[in-house]
Amino acid sequence: MTESMKQVLGQLAARGNLRQLPRFDREGRYAVTGGRRMLNLSSNDYLGMAGDPELRKAFLDTLSPETFLPTASSSRLLTGNYPVCEELEETLAHLFGTEAALVFNSGYHANTGILPAVADAHTLILADKLVHASLIDGIRLSTAHCIRYRHNDLAQLERLLARHAGDYRRIIVVTESIFSMDGDETDLPELVRLKRCYGDKVWLYVDEAHAFGLRGPQGLGCAEACGCTADIDFLVGTFGKALASVGAFVACRQTVRDFLVNRMRTFIFTTALPPVNIAWTLFVLRRLPGMGQARAHLAAISARLREGLRSQGFPCPSTSHIVPLVVGASEDAVRCANELQQCGFYALPVRPPTVPEGTSRIRFSLTASVTQAETDELVSTTAAIIHAL
Ligand code: PMP
Repeated sequence: MTESMKQVLGQLAARGNLRQLPRFDREGRYAVTGGRRMLNLSSNDYLGMAGDPELRKAFLDTLSPETFLPTASSSRLLTGNYPVCEELEETLAHLFGTEAALVFNSGYHANTGILPAVADAHTLILADKLVHASLIDGIRLSTAHCIRYRHNDLAQLERLLARHAGDYRRIIVVTESIFSMDGDETDLPELVRLKRCYGDKVWLYVDEAHAFGLRGPQGLGCAEACGCTADIDFLVGTFGKALASVGAFVACRQTVRDFLVNRMRTFIFTTALPPVNIAWTLFVLRRLPGMGQARAHLAAISARLREGLRSQGFPCPSTSHIVPLVVGASEDAVRCANELQQCGFYALPVRPPTVPEGTSRIRFSLTASVTQAETDELVSTTAAIIHAL
């Protein structure tokens, strides 16, 4: 019965694409495995808050047995709607200056739930070619028609809008702000300009998973940095990355929130997040506007890494703290990652199907706890490994 599975696994292994769950311990900013302590460059703890024991201690001091609630025990529409969750949503809406916000169990729940709820057969979704798997699954689960435009090719998007605007009641443009695999970003002001040409027909759906916490004066993301938060109809952010927690949210109009509460299956049919976790998210979120220094440091070392790799002759599409080094063949990416680990850098290879065939890469994911000296050492070590491949 499992023969066909074994066959597939064998094929994956033969192409260097077999995935196994890596096992290691964490010590703050380090990953420890097989007695080796390595700087963790594969984590989304972008502001270093998940690795900060003092912050956890400060949070623990706020808890009592009455407030330490490890489960919501039901969906929010039943008895799982704790006040702390509404407090988090009100805080988010206040920060973003939107009418409302709604919290979800994860970014995966958000992206697979919102689109099927709001898009019907009279809707066209125009999505960037490189959007995250969760968005692709959301599109697949919806009854909308979908066209993917070439990555960040907003001229093509403009042509598609002009060609199809008359054929649909609604068009939803779906993109990430900072892209998770290439670390480059979309031109949000241009997207807003395009949307405005079509009145209320075109809606913008922007996933800020990798920008929330990191961009803009208060760290709210690229839309805040560009001053266009009010023009994004679905501004999605996640808590599992810079916010050092779990969950996600959409900042939106009140009517959109009310609609999602009634129609979004991944919101309705799941147990709500544990209140203690929501309390932690709120605790961290309140610190976010004051973390400008950590954001500036992360921006500075990210620029240093990108420029360092480019100066060694490696092309690098990134404009952010996600810095991919495209190696090509999966086997080479795996070898390079192994050698980096030997040298004390825990960076993982990213292979198909996460990225297109032939573009396997090492994905450096910098956090604010990495120093400038470590960044320089990373550049020279990587260059030596790649040149020797
Ligand atoms: N959107 C993007 C762009 C992501 O990269 C990810 C996860 N890496 C998600 C959504 C999913 O978020 P979560 O991990 O909270 O499910």
